[in-house]
Amino acid sequence: MRTMTAATTTLWNDLDLSAELNAPLGALTWYRAGGRAEVLVQPNTVDALATLCCRCHEMAIEVRVLGLGANLLVTDSGVDGVVVQLNQPAFCGVNWQPSTVAQTIRVGAGAQLMALTAESARHGLQGLTSLAGIPATIGGAVRMNAGGTFGETAQVVHSIDHISLRGERTTLTAVELAFGYRHCALPEGIITAANLTLTAGDPVKIREHLKEVSAYKKNSQPMRDNSAGCMFKNPIDPATGRRESAGKLIDLAGMKGTALRTAYVSPVHGNFIALTPHGRADDVLALATAVQLRVLEHSGIRLEREVIVWSTKGELS
Ligand SMILES: Cc1cc2nc3c(=O)[nH]c(=O)nc-3n(C[C@H](O)[C@H](O)[C@H](O)COP(=O)(O)OP(=O)(O)OC[C@H]3O[C@@H](n4cnc5c(N)ncnc54)[C@H](O)[C@@H]3O)c2cc1C
Repeated sequence: MRTMTAATTTLWNDLDLSAELNAPLGALTWYRAGGRAEVLVQPNTVDALATLCCRCHEMAIEVRVLGLGANLLVTDSGVDGVVVQLNQPAFCGVNWQPSTVAQTIRVGAGAQLMALTAESARHGLQGLTSLAGIPATIGGAVRMNAGGTFGETAQVVHSIDHISLRGERTTLTAVELAFGYRHCALPEGIITAANLTLTAGDPVKIREHLKEVSAYKKNSQPMRDNSAGCMFKNPIDPATGRRESAGKLIDLAGMKGTALRTAYVSPVHGNFIALTPHGRADDVLALATAVQLRVLEHSGIRLEREVIVWSTKGELS
């Protein structure tokens, strides 16, 4: 992929979008750390986004999409190319349809999951309350199949609208997305909207469930720290074939509470690697590597990162 020159920045001049060169990207993530984006683009229409993708593809300019930045670490050197943020009204709407039975609502990919969850409970709809307290946009929640003890995003996804990096638009069904644990088979490109199937239920029970899930999260996770949630996926224990808690393995390896410069393993939850205010993203990465090595030495299990890392070299594996 090539970096942009003054000439290539003209590729969006005629499109309905706003663009900021050398934009502070790390500040838009939950870590509140990390470098800049060569250009941050906020499209106002799906057409503008599709055309931008197509032109960037033709010019070999990398395009990435930022959600709420709650599962993302941007290294301190930042990223080349275009970062798209779907925070304009065309990408944040929800069409509620009053109904007494199941209904499929259409949600813009930039809409925020927490607000949507609360609103769905007010509408007496169940399905999203299992995801209460998870910071995400709908696009990010689908891409990561966000979830936990009470359920996961896949359970409500009917289909998504998608723009490929060549600018082609398609609709993909939940079956085509082949959801798995914190994973889906999403082709490269951008989710622009999702159709979610929710069912009508007893509003009192739905609100109680929302409270129960929110309280569970608040009591078990350091929600106020600068982090991206769980750093590692829960690995499959070869002995049992079941998923083992990565947090427990980190705890058993003696890493809970460990600090490396400005990054530290949360004393509340071993799988959260947090950062002090004004800390360095690269410290998080270095500590995550140290934790991975220590757990491997201690338990023989190799932890796989759940947090996505963006760098000038692309997405780090
Ligand atoms: C305090 C805290 C608690 C958390 N708790 C949980 C939890 O309980 N369960 C859980 O699963 N996760 C949890 N997380 C992680 C995070 O909330 C989820 O992974 C969430 O889905 C990330 O969504 P996002 O919009 O922030 O995506 P981002 O972090 O912005 O991006 C993540 C990935 O999704 C891609 N992406 C984003 N939007 C789109 C789009 N429109 N189209 C295509 N790809 C897209 C990005 O390119 C990137 O690859 C937590 C995080 C924090 C900070």
